Amino acid sequence: MTAHTIFDASGRKQDRSSQTSPENGIDSVRPKRSARGSAALLGPAPAAISAPAPTPLRRVNRFPIGPASRAFMKRFYPEATQDDWNDWRWQSRHRIRSAAELERIFKLSDDERTAAANHTGSLPVGITPYYASLMGLEDPMEPLRRTHIMVGQEFLKMPGEEDDPLGEDHDMATPGLVHRYPDRVLFLTTGFCATYCRYCTRSRMVGNAGGEYHFSTAEWEKALEYIEAHTEIRDVLLSGGDPLSIGDDKLDYLLGRLRKIKHVEFVRIGTKIPVVLPQRVTRDLIRVLKKHHPLWMSLHFTHPAEFTPEVTEATARLADAGIPLGSQTVLLKDINDDVGVMKNLMHGLLMRRVRPYYLYQCDPITGSAHFRTSVDKGVEIIRGLRGHTTGYAIPTFVIDAPGGGGKIPVNPDYILGRDGDELVLTNYENGRYRYPDPDGAVGADKPLDLPAAAE
Ligand code: SF4
Repeated sequence: MTAHTIFDASGRKQDRSSQTSPENGIDSVRPKRSARGSAALLGPAPAAISAPAPTPLRRVNRFPIGPASRAFMKRFYPEATQDDWNDWRWQSRHRIRSAAELERIFKLSDDERTAAANHTGSLPVGITPYYASLMGLEDPMEPLRRTHIMVGQEFLKMPGEEDDPLGEDHDMATPGLVHRYPDRVLFLTTGFCATYCRYCTRSRMVGNAGGEYHFSTAEWEKALEYIEAHTEIRDVLLSGGDPLSIGDDKLDYLLGRLRKIKHVEFVRIGTKIPVVLPQRVTRDLIRVLKKHHPLWMSLHFTHPAEFTPEVTEATARLADAGIPLGSQTVLLKDINDDVGVMKNLMHGLLMRRVRPYYLYQCDPITGSAHFRTSVDKGVEIIRGLRGHTTGYAIPTFVIDAPGGGGKIPVNPDYILGRDGDELVLTNYENGRYRYPDPDGAVGADKPLDLPAAAE
């Protein structure tokens, strides 16, 4: 194990090994540079490392605190100041991470209490105080709470479920670098998340002490070398874990290395942090991100209850930095599997300059059956949106094919059939329309038995 120096969430310097748990995750490592200017992230504590200057209070104070969060803070963290609450390091240090802490804040059901007590291994409980403040404290069925507090069903493996349903391990070019499509790679940067979603596709590796991937900086270097050597890679998606949990210096280093690779045309970041730890979107972080355009970002939203003044501020800062924002949402049973809920979510995203991008059918990850809807439900939701609201508000509903087939769009079928040279279509109001299409064959396989008068 190689010793290196990092800073904990409070800015204190600590010696740690490269095999420490990703739960140490939010750190700030300034890469050590060799005499030739190349960077090596691992190694003994370099003299160049200095503790990040404390964030000036005036910056911290500018972040809004919504009414729900303010009341929650006073009740459960009476010693915290507003500046503490608005400091993402404070939020990270005070994450709810044990059965006892859950019990202190939530009125747990017997099922939740037993599940929390019995849970071991990866995907621990982890909830920022901010995100907990949005949850129902008394109601185990409240949507956001259900996504983050474990229940007994999580321990059941149903037919078709897998620990790695998307076959990512099979497509690893180097540890943590998935190269499935010719022109793009998925770069798993860290195993740390600000909060842990119980339906996580990467539950096998996030929040896991001593898991298969250490997400060490040595693994980063191997991944970067691979990308440098493969000139066909034009698009790099940083994911994890959550890339925005990485300290500013280290993230700056990684983005800088990627931007220096000429064939990498742009970089994308997949993150949930602006939703569960919006205070992380500091002016300093924005300055880092702005240096590395073109940079795109996919934000993981689940429910309209996530729209708070804090999230509005975080998304505004990102959008103002010129970062195109898209959303990713997992379709979840009894959480957001409703046309009205989904419409509100998509409208709220557009109002925050986030373009709805993907709606995912929940992956068959081990222990996720209680989260999965039928595919019909997703089709029903898209049908309930198309034509009933602006097209920008409609995400693409996809199934990420088990085994590594990639994202497959699943759409309502608006083609009724073919009548000679005409394609017969239906619209969102179930009207019937004919389109002249003499050279086409689409719809020829569908028997059309409706009289023209019915159209
Ligand atoms: S934020 Fe993303 S990677 Fe982290 S637990 Fe949730 S779904 Fe998984």
